[in-house]
Amino acid sequence: MEEIKIFCAATIANISCGFDVLGLALDNVGDEMIVRKVPQKGVTITKIIGQNLPLETHKNVAGVAALALLSKVDTDFGFEIEIYKNIKPGSGIGSSAASSAGAVYGINELLGRPFSNHDLIEFAMQGERLASGVAHADNVAPALLGGFTLVRSTAPLDVLKIHTPNELYATVIHPQIEVKTSDAREILRSSVPLKTAIKQWGNIGGLISGLYTEDYDLIGRSLEDYIVEPIRSILIPAFNSVKTESIKSGALGAGISGSGPSIFALSEGSKNASKVAIAMKKVYDKVGIAYDVHISKINTEGIKKL
Ligand code: ADP
Repeated sequence: MEEIKIFCAATIANISCGFDVLGLALDNVGDEMIVRKVPQKGVTITKIIGQNLPLETHKNVAGVAALALLSKVDTDFGFEIEIYKNIKPGSGIGSSAASSAGAVYGINELLGRPFSNHDLIEFAMQGERLASGVAHADNVAPALLGGFTLVRSTAPLDVLKIHTPNELYATVIHPQIEVKTSDAREILRSSVPLKTAIKQWGNIGGLISGLYTEDYDLIGRSLEDYIVEPIRSILIPAFNSVKTESIKSGALGAGISGSGPSIFALSEGSKNASKVAIAMKKVYDKVGIAYDVHISKINTEGIKKL
């Protein structure tokens, strides 16, 4: 194989109670990439369509992740990468993770798969380090593995793929405003009262159990974040209305996607997910800020070959 074309999924990190540990992959929202073997050694990004992002290998997360992988193998050839960007950077649905994950997945396939998808997470995390200053795995893990993922530990890296109920759908609204990841991090408190922590880990356990047993009510009851959302939601216009109206119209629960500004809701079935989209749009039409809305089944495969 000399060339591969792939779909790289958008991802939702945190998922209410799972700050910095949980993530999920979307099925029909994502970028496309072409990765090609070329005689010249190294990594060249030859094309980026859809967004204005750096072509220089060291400034693009795809290039940085690719070089992290190539530092572990000996090849007498190199790779070209084309990125067709549909996920806007800074949207909170894993734009940088899609490129980081796609680059390492594509190269690994062209090399004959010396690494497992789990192994690739560590390389893709180097792309995330370039994007945000922190080599976090909560977006690249679901982008590479699909479904829900839990980053149990980052040092040493221990990532688990969690069972995804078949009828689970996500609705995401992306208001066209900028929330800087650094600002979203800075406003967080560094300590948590024990009483609050107890409520939060009750929810994480409940959510994981609900996913495995396909208990949609339990999933809904557990989608509550007592630690980060009350603080971060201040940065997102009409967050509380979007959440309340989503749940009123049938969502199991709703929260901030990644560090925002996107807001996600989870629903049982595509019909409910569509009703939630209408409710979200109604709120934002009143606010008067432009937005995109996505409705997607949860993607259990991760990156897909096209
Ligand atoms: P997201 O949460 O959607 O990934 P971030 O704000 O975390 O958005 O990351 C986007 C940052 O990464 C921007 O500064 C962007 O310029 C940089 N970046 C570099 N290469 C890429 C790429 N291939 N795709 C997306 N963002 C990239």
